[in-house]
Amino acid sequence: MYTELMFYIDGVWTAGEADRTSPVINPATGEEIGQLPLASRTDLDAALDAAAKGFEKWSITSAYDRSAILRRAAALVRERHEHMARCMTLDQGKPIAESMLEAKSAADHIEWYAEEGRRAYGRIVPSRNPAVRQLVVREPVGPVAAFTPWNFPINQAVRKIAGALAAGCSIIIKAPEEAPGSVIELVRCFHDAGVPKGVLNLVFGVPAEVSDYLVRSPIIRKVSFTGSTAVGRKLGALAAEHLKLTTMELGGHAPFIVCEDADLEAAATLACGLKFRNAGQVCASPSRFYVHDAVFERFARRFGELAGQLKVGDGFDTSTQMGPLANARRVTAIQELVADASDLGAVVVTGGKRIGQKGNFFEPTVLADTPAQARLLCEEPFGPVAPLLRFDDLDSVIRQANSLEYGLAAFAFTASLKTATELGNRLQSGMVSINHFGLALPETPFGGIKASGHGSEGGTEGLDAYLTTKFISQVGC
Ligand code: NAD
Repeated sequence: MYTELMFYIDGVWTAGEADRTSPVINPATGEEIGQLPLASRTDLDAALDAAAKGFEKWSITSAYDRSAILRRAAALVRERHEHMARCMTLDQGKPIAESMLEAKSAADHIEWYAEEGRRAYGRIVPSRNPAVRQLVVREPVGPVAAFTPWNFPINQAVRKIAGALAAGCSIIIKAPEEAPGSVIELVRCFHDAGVPKGVLNLVFGVPAEVSDYLVRSPIIRKVSFTGSTAVGRKLGALAAEHLKLTTMELGGHAPFIVCEDADLEAAATLACGLKFRNAGQVCASPSRFYVHDAVFERFARRFGELAGQLKVGDGFDTSTQMGPLANARRVTAIQELVADASDLGAVVVTGGKRIGQKGNFFEPTVLADTPAQARLLCEEPFGPVAPLLRFDDLDSVIRQANSLEYGLAAFAFTASLKTATELGNRLQSGMVSINHFGLALPETPFGGIKASGHGSEGGTEGLDAYLTTKFISQVGC
């Protein structure tokens, strides 16, 4: 049912030198499900050499032909999405319905880039001299090194792979060691669709070792990272030292603002769905709930009720609504954040505890009146805990929402067009979603500002991330 754990280098599935491996654990049971090879320098050199040669061929393959191969990959993803989803629930833990959705939507992302890659338009700039022709052309930036995390193993990988390939770049992707199975199956779809050897390469390893080696390599021209702000700072500094372009999709701490005039039932239902999806391990997850004083008690009661009713369990049980946390580190982190907030006086509305000792299960947790100094309100929680806070004036809530270094996503509920417009304009965030959840579609940009990173994945901006601009001025022909 699981997959054979391998690298994919220069069109070949390989365990590389295989001098080191690390166990892959099912987070619902704590059982080992496989041993993953970790790349050596020799393996990384092979991937770099392949990416350099792959770029030479792929960058001069027509956008039309690249698009046809990508569309074949999308069709294969649709055909195989159930197997990919099962691999993901096995090593990452999320409910199988969430895995299915993520796997299926990967096909949409690939198709979007397959289409958009054919529209990498340049322009002609009117010249001062009629004999001169001035062209602006868009070219693929070069071989890319990409690093993706364990929370959405397919989604995080597919946006980088499809964006790079559509633009004409080759790519080496270091996917998550803790949840590698579904990414291997995703890469298999590109291989079977006919992506030429060397264009796409997949490795696993000791993250800091791999990134340090790849980012320094003169072959790599672009670095795309999704993960924590702390790691993003380090990779950004290294990339800057070597003058590499970067896209950084980092941590977030999204405010969710419920105004006095909001539809409370809709707000509580969406808050619960968004907060506990993937057990809260989502960079755009709402993690600070600012609720107007006049509706605080009603919202807190309803949100608490809905959260308390969620069925937590093994992701393969189809009645499960929230799976385990993806690794034991998150359980410890959430226990510490909840203890800190409770010690400072936060009221536990529901949850607050680990469930059992087998697997990484934690109760969906809602805390009311969380004191401002609680760590949870400034550190990204990345888990199933929702602190509720009161506000009574729009200016003050916008100030609080903007007070952190993060700026990835923000959510708000209001019946007033004026308030919605003001929130949309004034929230310091790469993405704002009002009265619904409307983020992360293939055709729309996804990305943050401030310490949440820079650059976008998705939309036309997602293709731009892998293109550079060349100016050609010619005369005489
Ligand atoms: P972490 O900071 O050690 O790792 C985060 C991710 O970065 C992992 O996928 C890891 O493999 C990778 N990574 C770590 N060091 C690296 C390096 N030097 N070079 C390249 N990749 C490296 O923390 P963690 O315990 O795995 O995850 C917890 C934190 O990570 C969360 O608090 C959250 O902020 C963040 N995170 C963010 C996202 C996101 O979608 N933005 C996804 C996963 C994790």
